[in-house]
Amino acid sequence: MSWIENRFEEGLMVTSLDWAINWGRTSSIWPMTFGLACCAIEMMAVGASRFDIDRFGAGAFRATPRQADLMIVAGTVTYKMASRLKRLYNQMPDPKYVIAMGACTIGGGPYFKYGYHVVKGVDLVVPVDVYIPGCPPRPEALLEGLMRLQDKIKSQTRAKDPISRVRTEVLAN
Ligand code: SF4
Repeated sequence: MSWIENRFEEGLMVTSLDWAINWGRTSSIWPMTFGLACCAIEMMAVGASRFDIDRFGAGAFRATPRQADLMIVAGTVTYKMASRLKRLYNQMPDPKYVIAMGACTIGGGPYFKYGYHVVKGVDLVVPVDVYIPGCPPRPEALLEGLMRLQDKIKSQTRAKDPISRVRTEVLAN
């Protein structure tokens, strides 16, 4: 960038389009209001004053998938619910992200062996960006997962977007 150094007055900031867009996306993640079982109680706690997810710019929980860009799958995903979950995911605008919260969501949890009605991992239904283990994970763990997702968003580039590419491949299968 040496060719533009000292050519502008003080206070002018030059950055890449990628950085500016990623900064906006990172600081304004809108999760969808969506809880399936006990893990959702921990997710709700994150929205309350003690943990305050608003500090990370992600406190605007939306009641419609069309206004959300983050799906936090919190709880047991049954086969009956999986098709609804997929439909809600498809209704979210791009770019969109998924956090799998809790053992049930990640791999079936305590229902893995005998729960014939439980999906053995939500990644069989939608592509997952961040996994948060635990039964249930503490609210702090969800905040940690959110920060890891923000790291992922910061590393995206418009020209070569690994997250979108992976998602497209999963949807195609
Ligand atoms: S992982 Fe544990 S706390 Fe979370 S939904 Fe399953 S049984 Fe409930």
